[in-house]
Amino acid sequence: MQSGSGGAERVLGLAASPGRVLGELRRVEWNVAAPRHRTIAETEIPVEVLRFDEARLASIERIEELRETTRRKLGEIEAKIFDPQLMMLQDPDLVEGTTRYIRENFLAAERAFDWRITELRTQILDAAHLMIVDRLADLMDVRYRVLTHLLGRAADPTQLPNERAILVFDDLTPSLAVRLDPSIAVGLVIGAGSRTAHSAVLARSMGIPAVVGLGKEIARLEEGAMAIMDGGSGKIIVRPTTREVAAHVEVERRLSEVRDQLSDRPAGPVTTHDGVRVALRANLDQPHDAAAAQRVAAEGVGLFRSEFLVIGQRVIPSEKEQYEAYSSVVESFPDHPVTLRTFDIGGDKFPLFLDMPPEENPYLGWRAIRVCLDLPDLFRNQIRAAVRAGGDQGRLRILIPFVTSLDEVLATRKIVNDVAEGVGVDPASVPLGIMVETPAVVETLDLIAEHIDFVSLGTNDLSQYTLAVDRGNARLAHLSDALHPAMLRLYARVFEQASSSGLEIAVCGDLATDPTGLAVLLGIGYRDFSIAPVSFPEIREFVGTVSAGELAGLCANLGEADRVSRVKDDVIAYLDATIPPDMRGLSE
Ligand code: PEP
Ligand code: MG
Repeated sequence: MQSGSGGAERVLGLAASPGRVLGELRRVEWNVAAPRHRTIAETEIPVEVLRFDEARLASIERIEELRETTRRKLGEIEAKIFDPQLMMLQDPDLVEGTTRYIRENFLAAERAFDWRITELRTQILDAAHLMIVDRLADLMDVRYRVLTHLLGRAADPTQLPNERAILVFDDLTPSLAVRLDPSIAVGLVIGAGSRTAHSAVLARSMGIPAVVGLGKEIARLEEGAMAIMDGGSGKIIVRPTTREVAAHVEVERRLSEVRDQLSDRPAGPVTTHDGVRVALRANLDQPHDAAAAQRVAAEGVGLFRSEFLVIGQRVIPSEKEQYEAYSSVVESFPDHPVTLRTFDIGGDKFPLFLDMPPEENPYLGWRAIRVCLDLPDLFRNQIRAAVRAGGDQGRLRILIPFVTSLDEVLATRKIVNDVAEGVGVDPASVPLGIMVETPAVVETLDLIAEHIDFVSLGTNDLSQYTLAVDRGNARLAHLSDALHPAMLRLYARVFEQASSSGLEIAVCGDLATDPTGLAVLLGIGYRDFSIAPVSFPEIREFVGTVSAGELAGLCANLGEADRVSRVKDDVIAYLDATIPPDMRGLSE
C-alpha cells in the first residue's frame, strides 16, 4: 500500500470523495475513554436508571438538532443518516440491556451502558456483513454522546483543529462529520470505512476530498507532516518534495483560473486540441448535486447513482418521492439528457428496508439488476417514477447496472415497456442502456445490442471483475489497474462492437478522470464521458491540450501483443511531451 520515493512516502487508500489538497496532517481523537468500574448500592438503582434515561433522552434531543442542522445545510437525504442512531437509542436491545445491568449487576449507569455497547459492538463485528459493519460508526456515535452526558462532559468535547489541515481519523462518525468546516477540514483521511459509508457520503456532499479504508496504514500519517492527498485516486504523498509541492500549487493555480472563467461566462463546447468534439457530463450521487453540475456547464447527467436515495434508509422512497427527485434533475438540464441508473444495491451498498443476507462474496452476489428483477414491486416503482419524470421526450434515459446476461436486459425492457404503456408514455421514447461492467457482457454485446440504445463503460467494476481485485480492499488497491493490458483490449472491443451496432457509447467509470486513462480512452475513440462535477475544470483543460488524432495513432491495434504492452508507456511519453508531468498532479 505504500512505497518510498526520496523523502516522500506514498500511501494508498480507497478513493471516497474527489479533489486534491495540500495540507498539514492533524490527527483527531474523538473517543471517550471507558468509564471506570463503579458499583452501586441497591437503593441507588432508581437514580441510576433515571440518570441513564435522562442521558439517553438528552442524546436523542441533540441528535435531532444535528439532524435538523444537517437537513438545512445539506438536505433531507443526508439528514436521514442520523435516523439509525435515533432508532438505536430507542432500541430495547440497548435500553433494556443497560437497565438490566444496572438492576441485576449493580453497575453505575455509565458502566452498565458501556458494557452493553461493548457487547453490541462485538455482535456487529462478528456479523462480517458490510451492511451491519457500517452501523459500527453509528453505535460509536451513540456511545460517545450518551457517555459524555453521563460523565458530565461538554456535548461535543472533541477538539477540531481551528486551522486549515487534512484531518486524520481512525473512524469518523456522522455527528462529527457534519461538524466539519470545509474551509478548515480541507481533506479527510479515515482508517475505517468504505466509499459508501456515511462519512464518505457526507464528505462528498460537503465537497471535502476524502481517502478511506487505510486500516493500519493510517499510522504512517505522521502528525504535523505535510501531505498532498487526492480523494479521486486514493493517493496520499506524505512529506512531498519541494518539486511535488510546487507542481501541486501550480496545478491548483491554473485550475482555479479555469474555475473562475467557468463562473464568469458560459462554457463553450469542449474540444480536443485538434478540434474533436467531446461531451462532458456529470456523475451525480444526489439530486441536489445537479446544481454543482450546472455550475461547471455539464452537458447533462451521464450517471445518476439512484441507489444513494436508498442506502442506509429504513423506508423505501415512494414513487412520488422518487418522481420528484428524478424530475428535479431532468428540469435542471432542459437541453441535455439525464441518465438514471436503476438501484445498484448489494455489493457494498445496502438499504436497511431490505433483508439482504450476509454473503461470502457480496460483489459476486445479490447485487443491482439481480435484486431489482427479484423484487418487481421495488423495480416497477422506480421505473414508473423514472418514465414519468422523462416524459415522452426521452429526456431521461434508463441505465441498468451489473448486467451479465441478455435475459436481464429482456426482462428489464419488458418492465419498461409495460410501465411506459401504463402511464401513457410511448415505450420507444424511453432510451434503455446497460453498464458494461462484466466480462460476460463484453463477450455478448453483439447479442444484446439490438435490445438497447446505449452503453456506458463502468471501468471501476469492469476492472474489479476482470482482474479479480475486490475494489473495497485497500490492500489490493495497487493491483486495481484499470490500464492493465486486459482492460485496454476490453475497452477497444467494447468500442468497436458498440459502434458497429450503432449504439451510443459513453464512459462513466473513474478512469475518465485519470489523465493517462482519459488519453487512452480518447485514443480508442470514446468521446462521451461522465465525471464528478468537481473534476470538470481539470478534465476540460486536459481535453483541450491533447490531440485525439495523435492519441488514436498511439492506441491503434491493441490486439497486437507488442502494441498492448507498450501503449500505456507511449501515452505517458506523449503526455510528458505535451503536458509537463509536473502539471498532471498525482497522475503518475
Ligand atoms: C463503475 O463501476 O465503473 C461505475 C461507474 O459504477 P460504480 O462506481 O457506481 O459501481
Ligand atoms: Mg459499477
